Amino acid sequence: MTLKIGVIGTGAIGADHTRRITNALTGAEVIALTDVNQEQAEKVKKSLGLNATIYKDGHELIEKGDVDAVLVTSWGGTHEEYVLAAIKAGKYVFCEKPLATTARGCQNIIDAEMAAGKRLVQVGFMRPYDSGYKMLKQAIDSGAIGEPLMIHAAHRNPSVPEMYITPMAIHDTLIHELDVFRWLLDDEYVSAQVVFPRKSKYAHSKVADPQIVMLETKKGTRIDVEVFVNCQYGYDIQCSVVGEEGVANLPEPQALSMRKNANLGQAILTDWKDRFIESYDVELQDFINGVQAGKLTGPSSWNGLAAAVSGDACVKAQESGLIEPINLPNRPEFYRS
Ligand code: NAP
Repeated sequence: MTLKIGVIGTGAIGADHTRRITNALTGAEVIALTDVNQEQAEKVKKSLGLNATIYKDGHELIEKGDVDAVLVTSWGGTHEEYVLAAIKAGKYVFCEKPLATTARGCQNIIDAEMAAGKRLVQVGFMRPYDSGYKMLKQAIDSGAIGEPLMIHAAHRNPSVPEMYITPMAIHDTLIHELDVFRWLLDDEYVSAQVVFPRKSKYAHSKVADPQIVMLETKKGTRIDVEVFVNCQYGYDIQCSVVGEEGVANLPEPQALSMRKNANLGQAILTDWKDRFIESYDVELQDFINGVQAGKLTGPSSWNGLAAAVSGDACVKAQESGLIEPINLPNRPEFYRS
């Protein structure tokens, strides 16, 4: 059976996911599209030669489109309403991060999904699908470095536009780290603190940059993450796990090592889309396979809530300068299997 998919929001990632479903993955086709900017949906349809219907809005696509599953890749503020509508229609839904812009919104989705009686939602956290992070996880789980004691990490972007403001360092940037560390450590956060080093001259007036976010987990592991979104030189993700018996580092992306002009060097990526390009493929294929099998196993609505609750505490810590508690409710049995 070929899965029929409808895409809500055909901007950067919506267009890219549509391309991968059409050209790179198996078992699914995009048969419906919508975007507030209809021309953008038309453009994606034409560029990929899709046999797809363009709907007026996301609700019409969910209700009238003959789709088995929905991709929500519109602006973050619209995710909650479309995910709830898809659950109501009994349709599987892959929602890009954030699942909702508030913890309350994530909880509404959890309540609706549990009432529906089965997992229908996968959240677009792709780092657990990255081969490098999988190697790190394996090193931790196998005991190769002993118990993990600390993580030192960095999330660096070359630059950000004027609309990127201080809290977005958490909600838009750190959110991937917030998800992946919980998964790596199989642990939950208990507190967050944010400190601000000297500001870079490349950061505009509305963003404090860089920032250092410090997290503590239930088991006592300490994490420091540098978020530096005007680092100029590239898109660079670093993660070093310090264990009792060794240190495991996230592998660098594969790059040619070149000797030239008395210099030994390797290129560094500059576009976030390239850094995790393979993991986007793997996560979406996993979603397609999960829908086909009637059982989703990727990042769940619970991961969406955990990221939202911890993100809110980090933003509070940015504002207060204090160590802020992170209080995640108990995970329901529904999200344990
Ligand atoms: P984008 O390029 O701005 O695309 C969003 C698209 O959705 C735009 O075409 C926008 O139209 C459209 N849209 C807005 N409201 C809509 C609505 N109510 N119904 C239908 N379409 C609507 O943004 P993006 O970079 O693709 O990001 C989209 C989402 O994906 C965001 O939540 C973002 O955080 C997430 N994302 C995740 C990753 C990841 O690594 N997992 C990476 C990138 C983005 P207009 O432009 O006309 O407003």
